[in-house]
Amino acid sequence: MLRFEENKASAAGAGLAPGSAFGAARVAESDAPPEQRRVNIADKRIINGKTDVNQLVPFKYKWAWDKYLSACANHWMPQEIQMSRDIELWKNPNGLTDDERRVVKRNLGFFVTADSLAANNIVLGTYRHITAPECRQYLLRQAFEEAIHTHAYQYIVESLQLDEGEVFNAYHEIPSIRDKDEFLIPFIDTLTDPSFRTGTPENDQKLLKSLIVFACIMEGLFFYVGFTQILALGRQNKMTGAAEQYQYILRDESMHCNFGIDVINTVKLENPHLWTQEFREDIRGLMTKAVELEYRYAEDTMPRGVLGLNAAMFKEYLRFIANRRCQQIGLDALFEGATNPFPWMAEMIDLKKERNFFETRVIEYQTGGALSWD
Ligand code: FE
Repeated sequence: MLRFEENKASAAGAGLAPGSAFGAARVAESDAPPEQRRVNIADKRIINGKTDVNQLVPFKYKWAWDKYLSACANHWMPQEIQMSRDIELWKNPNGLTDDERRVVKRNLGFFVTADSLAANNIVLGTYRHITAPECRQYLLRQAFEEAIHTHAYQYIVESLQLDEGEVFNAYHEIPSIRDKDEFLIPFIDTLTDPSFRTGTPENDQKLLKSLIVFACIMEGLFFYVGFTQILALGRQNKMTGAAEQYQYILRDESMHCNFGIDVINTVKLENPHLWTQEFREDIRGLMTKAVELEYRYAEDTMPRGVLGLNAAMFKEYLRFIANRRCQQIGLDALFEGATNPFPWMAEMIDLKKERNFFETRVIEYQTGGALSWD
């Protein structure tokens, strides 16, 4: 069992003040008799909590624990997926059109670094500021999933023998990708700044804004042109190995997005003073800007129609998604009447115990159940 002194020493060693999420209340409550240090559910908070972050139960945020269990049940690894058909098609000069190749390369150019940004944002930022252990448990799982996603993109790049320097530098070199990342960086910087502390209305709003940017804009909007394009390839029986991986990634990401939205809404409930008119206007402005950036990315990746898709269809789709994200966090829709031109994408996200769309393996499996002592 950890003694209090050890906790205190490690908090100090990590350079964290007693009020920080890591040092949390264990330090402040150190003089209380042991039985009074037990966690009371009513005292738990998503941010600025004073209860011991090491005591997972009793649960207060059961939804976070349930999502952690679902995420574990969805476990997958990139190398389980066969890439031989993709490699054959990619190497065949007549296998894909130039426009289709552009879609694949731009796609990887965005995604190879996007999930790394997401992982760093969680590990070096968000995690420290969240004081509910149920949510931290999910974030630990999510961080590993971001690593799996980066692994998946790397695995595709390696399989197709693409120019690694070109793909991994696209986020510096391709303006439509760079602009999306530059939009995100200030929000990552806020949370990962070692001197950033929650606990004032101003800083709590900064945290809430960064949570919204990540869940609703990065994972909830910036991924959708790319996902749709690669899944459209798969639907035409092209690059099916890559498409299968994107399908698993999409399933993971939609859970990241939903978890983020649950966190955001709970923080709002627990801290209603943060949800001011000015703050809401600010979020609507960010959402509008994000739709613009993602639309420019759609235009750049599809200068002409390809795979039955074109940039104009994405204008409608992005507006539809942005409306949904706004409504999910309690804001009015931004684009009245926008409809979904890709209803098949909803099926992709919602596939549960069905066989995978590409019929190559069962999409949901429980690795834990496979363990046996016989
Ligand atoms: Fe994610």
